[in-house]
Amino acid sequence: MNNIELLMPAGDFEKMQYAFAFGADAVYMGIPMFSLRARENGFKRDSVVQAIEYAHSLGKKIYVTANILPHNHKVNPFMNYIGQLLEQAQPDAWIMSDPGIIMMTKERYPDQEIHLSVQANTVNYATAKFWEKTGVSRIILSRELTIREIRQIREYCPNLELEAFVHGAICIAYSGRCLISNYMSYRDPNQGTCSHSCRWQFKMYQKENNQPAHWLQEAQSAGIETAITQQGESYVPVKGDYYLEETDRPGEYMQLDEDENGTYLMNARDLCAIEYLEELKDAGVNSFKVEGRNKSLYYASLVARAYRNAIDDMHNGRPFNPQNLTDVFAAANKGYIAGFLNGNPGKSAQKFDGTRAEQQCYQFSGIVREYDEERKMMKVEPRNPIRKGMELELFDKTTTQTIKVEKILNPKFREIEEIHGGLHYCWIPYPKKPAEFSLLREQTAEFNPYEVELTKQQSGGCGDGCGCN
Ligand code: SF4
Repeated sequence: MNNIELLMPAGDFEKMQYAFAFGADAVYMGIPMFSLRARENGFKRDSVVQAIEYAHSLGKKIYVTANILPHNHKVNPFMNYIGQLLEQAQPDAWIMSDPGIIMMTKERYPDQEIHLSVQANTVNYATAKFWEKTGVSRIILSRELTIREIRQIREYCPNLELEAFVHGAICIAYSGRCLISNYMSYRDPNQGTCSHSCRWQFKMYQKENNQPAHWLQEAQSAGIETAITQQGESYVPVKGDYYLEETDRPGEYMQLDEDENGTYLMNARDLCAIEYLEELKDAGVNSFKVEGRNKSLYYASLVARAYRNAIDDMHNGRPFNPQNLTDVFAAANKGYIAGFLNGNPGKSAQKFDGTRAEQQCYQFSGIVREYDEERKMMKVEPRNPIRKGMELELFDKTTTQTIKVEKILNPKFREIEEIHGGLHYCWIPYPKKPAEFSLLREQTAEFNPYEVELTKQQSGGCGDGCGCN
């Protein structure tokens, strides 16, 4: 593999089209029942075949995600599905994580390429070598690796393809090795039904009478005013601060922050490694992967464009262009970190105060569906309110231009003042036919990409991924 691959998620057929249109070299898609994100999977049996044909018609690659950990009763249906699909279409690779399914697939279909899913949690060169010996051609590296560790894996495995996540949501656990979702909603991440419970809001209740004993002494000697419980005991009124103490580690208090909205104590920020592509390439990564099969086509388009530009600049010896950050921040995010690339990200990895987007500077306004040459108007499917007189940005893979909405016509070509997202469609004047797959967005906040320090979080450790802080 000579060139670095930009690998985008394809949650459904349309998202796949936009991912390709905005610069993806390859996409990964789920199959019904046997891929993670099973509930949000936008592909049915027929559209899987169509998607493979579509990707190949563009000369691009498409990988089929089949990475659940099936129980006994699913093994045969799983293998039957693979056989039936291969009679109709040839994906470029299968993304799998279950060793038994990988073995059976290799036995029955030795020519099929298999990429080892991130779900298999490869964190060292020995594991990578093990999988290479089984015939796996690519390892999707665990997200919990530093750049130094990736480089070591490359040194030990010069012939394996290495794929690394560079953007998107992060699990609070090693990918999929998680029982939170099972516990909270009886939905198993390893069966493709994760409910993302780690991102939910939690509420904790403080009991005044179980504070660590030394708090009261310290507060009193510092002259801090104390309060009295209903039982007449003194306590320190530390409003808003809550702590956990593990029984085998007395005296080590883990702080949980809560405000009037509650707490999001397991809510991981999002990964953004766009500034580290050169280092990842030098460490031996062949494929840069973006997470987010259940995110919008707006997200798929913007993130594809940002990373496409960054990869092309890297190939052409140009330095990183901060302008690419505008697209990265134009999509919803939970605040960005560089994951574990520089070592354990420590506290900067979590966003305790909610799931609201951070510094999101644009919102999705609509999709340009077609163009009426006679009327010189574009047909727009709105995704958020569009009002007469407002300024929008019309963008495609290579251009972004500001336009003023001079007029809005409803489907009967009657003039209206505004249209809301979700309503059918409207017509907006524009002098020439926009590029295919053009989208509209509205700037909602000032944003200066040259002032952003998005992923320069403090490294919380030695950089060897040992978890030290
Ligand atoms: S609940 Fe959160 S940590 Fe667990 S698998 Fe789902 S996304 Fe990952």
